[in-house]
This record gives sequence, structure tokens and C-alpha cells, in this order.
Amino acid sequence: MTFKFNTKTVHFQKKSEEKNVSKSQPIYQTSAFSFKDLDDMEDFFRGNKEFLYTRYSNPNTEDLGQGVAQLEGAPKGVATSSGMSAILVGVLSVVGHGDHIVASEDIYGGTYQLFANELKEFGIEVSFISMNNLLEIEQAIKENTKLLYSESITNPLLRVEDIDGLVTLAKKFNLKTMFDNTFATPFLIKPYELGADLVVHSATKYIGGHSDVTAGVLVGDETIMAKAKSKVVNLGCNLSPFEAWLACRGLKTLAVRMSCQVKNAQALADYLRNNESIKKVYYPTTVSENGNGAIVTIDLGEKCDLNLFFQSLNWIKIVPTLAGVETSVTYPVGTSHRSVPDSIRSKLGITKGLVRVSLGIEDSEDIIQAFSEAIEKAKV
Ligand SMILES: *Cc1c(COP(=O)(O)O)cnc(C)c1O
Repeated sequence: MTFKFNTKTVHFQKKSEEKNVSKSQPIYQTSAFSFKDLDDMEDFFRGNKEFLYTRYSNPNTEDLGQGVAQLEGAPKGVATSSGMSAILVGVLSVVGHGDHIVASEDIYGGTYQLFANELKEFGIEVSFISMNNLLEIEQAIKENTKLLYSESITNPLLRVEDIDGLVTLAKKFNLKTMFDNTFATPFLIKPYELGADLVVHSATKYIGGHSDVTAGVLVGDETIMAKAKSKVVNLGCNLSPFEAWLACRGLKTLAVRMSCQVKNAQALADYLRNNESIKKVYYPTTVSENGNGAIVTIDLGEKCDLNLFFQSLNWIKIVPTLAGVETSVTYPVGTSHRSVPDSIRSKLGITKGLVRVSLGIEDSEDIIQAFSEAIEKAKV
């Protein structure tokens, strides 16, 4: 398809071949597909029919995988039951027993647990390092290193990864690269087009966009994705048709949601940078021509009573997630980074005063007013 980005977000679903064509894609809420006779069923195995059994494939999950792949500029995508299963499947498609991964130390808590604890039992070893220094990365690469793993924008301090630099380094050492693009989405950053081998999403966040579905998507080239697809099927990491349908519905408004959320984030960041009670504002400056992301992280420092601040946020909910259409806040030290030891937290710069704000699609004046009131009330 030669559509531009916004058009692609809406027109990614296959045209129905049924007699009564509904405007919206139906939900194929079925565990399997039926056949007229044995020849008709053989047609699936001959490659003339797409669907046999939902764990293998289903029109709704296929839509989601391909929809995100098109936005990322990748040939193939597969939908999975969660962001975590998409990461697992992606890793196992390029790394096996006896292999080694070099991963950013600055990754999502769930990914850290998967890499540090679970992969060990598959005989896969992981080194966690700072991705700020290419020399340090080079020194961490070993004989058996197969994969370089990072996130395009990190949580909660919003460091923007040097994808170009990492891809160039990885190619020199014949390593695959995989990026978690959940915070950026292809609206802001397209790692595959920058040379990454695999891009993964927690579709639970901006792809779904309405905080009502848990899902994941992995995209890459035909060869790696054929492997990934068989992992999804054999490990049972498939997504249910209804969840896929919801995520597709969300995906259609990705561009309009993101452009509004990005504007709100910029407005809040600008306001907070000029507020003396705030110790520090984390908001990137040069992510993309579409803006700098929809998350703002602030350090309240010592001039604010943290709990009073949270209590005073009025209509803004405290939730341990992000990316919904409603503005929400979370407390990294109490949630995502709870199990990270103090020493590592302070090395990463994750302090006790940090509050992560996920901007919604409300009017920026209302958001700024809510924050301004909460800051005022929480002043000590
Ligand atoms: C939420 C999240 C995940 C995990 O996704 P789930 O859908 O909860 O499994 C992975 N990476 C990032 C950056 C996330 O924010």
C-alpha cells in the first residue's frame, strides 16, 4: 500500500469477501473455521485458505499484526496475548540455548524480570548495561552474543535511544537488534525503518489506547516472523479475537490521539518547567517532527508533600499504566521500579520524588489547572 501514515492507521483491514459486507470488520469470535469437504480443508494446507484454528490465526489477530507492521514499515507482524509474550516470542525467534543478550539496564520492569529470571531457565544469558556509551556496549559483546535489546524511549526518565548508533554497532558484530517501541509508537519513531530487526509493542498502551485491552504486537522481516509465528502457535501466545478487534479499533485513531496527547504533553512540560516548586522536568526535545512524546516525568523534590500532591490531583487518576485517553499519573518507585534495589535505582536516577504523567486527550488548560492546584496544595 502506498498510503501515508494517517490513512494507513485507518485502512489496514482486509476487505471482506462475504455476501453481506459490514462497514466495520466483524469479530470472528470462534476457536476454529469450518469446511465444506476434505478438499476445502486441504486448501488450507495448500496455502489457498488463511484460517483453520484461531490459535494459528484468525482474521482479527491477523488485522492487528499487519496493521501495526504497515505503520512500522515492516513486512510482517504478529499479534500476541500481551506485550510480555510479544517480547518473549521475539527473543526466542533470534536467540536460543547457550546464547547471550546485551540489554539496556534501563528497561521496563517486566522485561527486566523476564530477562534476569526466566530466560536463565532457557539457558539464555543476559548482560544489563548502560546504552549511553557505545564503547561499554562493545565491551559487553561476547562470542555467543546474538541480540542487542533496548527501548526507543525509556521509562520513566524518557531517554531517547540512539537507534542508528546501536544498529550500526550491532551490524558490525553480526547481532540482531530488537526495540520496544511502546512509548514512542510508529507515530514518532519507526525503528524497523532505521534498520532494527524486530520491533515490539505492548498494544495495551497506545496501540489499544483506551485502557481496555491487554495485547502485544511483534513486527519484523518474513524470515524472522515465520519463526515468531511458530513460537506464538506452539507456545500458545495468541491473542483472542475480541481483544484483537478492540486493539484494531484503537489503532484506527492512533494518529489523532497521539497528535493531541503529544501537544498536551508539550504544554504541560512547558508549564511545569516554569513552576518553581518542581525540581526537575523530564521531557525529550528532539524525538520526531510529530513531537516529543505523550509522557512527562517530573521530580517533585523536597518542596512538595508527595502524598498530598497525589491526593490533590482531583479528576486525574493514579494508575500503574499509561497511554489511555484520560490523563493519569503513576509513581515509579512504588510500582514499576518497586523491586529494583535502591542502589540501581539511584544509578538510573529514579528518585523518590518522581511522578510519571501520561497525557490524555483533554483540553490542556484543564490538565494544567489540575496540576497547578495539586502543586499549590502540596507545597511545604
Ligand atoms: C506495559 C509495557 C510492557 C508489557 O506489556 P504488557 O502488555 O503489560 O504485557 C512492555 N514494555 C513496555 C515499555 C511497557 O510499557
